[in-house]
Amino acid sequence: MTASRDYEALVQRGLKLDLTRGKPSAQQLDLSDAMLKLPTTTKTGAGIDARNYGDLQGLKETRELFSAALQVPAGQLVVGGNSSLAVMHDTIVFALLGTMPGAERRWAEQEVTFLCPVPGYDRHFAICERYGIKMVAVPMTAEGPDMDVVERLAADDPAVKGIWCVPKYSNPSGITYSDDVVRRLAAMPTAAADFRVFWDNAYAVHHLSDQHDQLADLLALCEEYGNADRAFVFGSTSKVTLAGSGISFFGSSPANVEWFLSHTAKQSIGPDKLNQLRHVEFLRDADGIAAHMRGHAAIVAPKFELVDQILRKELGELATWTAPHGGYFITLEVPNAADVVARAKAAGIALTPAGATHPYGQDPDDRFIRIAPTFPDLEELEQAIYGLTVCVRAANA
Ligand code: PMP
Repeated sequence: MTASRDYEALVQRGLKLDLTRGKPSAQQLDLSDAMLKLPTTTKTGAGIDARNYGDLQGLKETRELFSAALQVPAGQLVVGGNSSLAVMHDTIVFALLGTMPGAERRWAEQEVTFLCPVPGYDRHFAICERYGIKMVAVPMTAEGPDMDVVERLAADDPAVKGIWCVPKYSNPSGITYSDDVVRRLAAMPTAAADFRVFWDNAYAVHHLSDQHDQLADLLALCEEYGNADRAFVFGSTSKVTLAGSGISFFGSSPANVEWFLSHTAKQSIGPDKLNQLRHVEFLRDADGIAAHMRGHAAIVAPKFELVDQILRKELGELATWTAPHGGYFITLEVPNAADVVARAKAAGIALTPAGATHPYGQDPDDRFIRIAPTFPDLEELEQAIYGLTVCVRAANA
């Protein structure tokens, strides 16, 4: 009965804590304060006035800055606005309404199914749901999506046009795809000639320690296996510099980049190049990015350690959870996840809704809870995670 007594005591405390979204803390945003005074020049490397219209693909120096991190040659990168999610959304819309390289017809004229490794990112699923793209869940393993399942579905069904992947420090499991999984994604036969891997490399440089996961180069492998147009790479500086004022990226084969730009050319006369210059001046080069990310790790890693410590002490055998080497999330697997989340809500601890990790918000095993530890300070985080463990024990008493 201590579980229900502890829960009653938790509710009595009247907490108001939020573990829902993977937002950087104010302390992390402060790391980029110097950016607010940049750029010091408005001339680009090519001698163009960055204040004016133009340069749809983005500045060469900005593309060069992120080329290595995103594993895309600078000539095949496009720099976008402040949100990579917007770029992913628009790419789906462009595919629905315009014919992609290798496609016979627009996706809007046919049934389209996406493979969705679970647990996965709810905002990817929301885009599919909004545009009537059918989603099929594929289980994740410790190495990435279960490739036996992916290969079978992609080979059998021409309606299967794509797969969502967060390949490094994944949202929400934190795992990094193994070389074998990446190779199989690049090499597998697909029934649809216009199959695309939506490679959302949102956490490419977001290590928590000196132990860096290595990710194989999907774009290069696709080319090597004769599927050059298969990969759409996305990324952003939302969790590098300023979440609301960063820059985003689209990278792919030359044919896909031309197709993508043919659409964005109708959307805009050119991107915010002052922000691109600001990022180049502030981060400088790959070493500059790495040094800046060590500043984030110093703030974020203790939060991940604290969560792990509390879960180990309080839950032990009752649950399993991930201990990622980077990224923004820990996945907690517990029985009766929906009940746990509801109890936490009643106790003033907001968690991402149970099921959000799955297409249509439905986790058939009712097990997955995404923990986002970055935003609260250590004291609030300790209260929230301890409270969460009380809810887990109460829901499984
Ligand atoms: N992709 C993933 C996997 C994310 O976790 C997030 C942020 N939670 C985003 C994209 C959103 O990125 P952006 O701010 O560039 O739109």
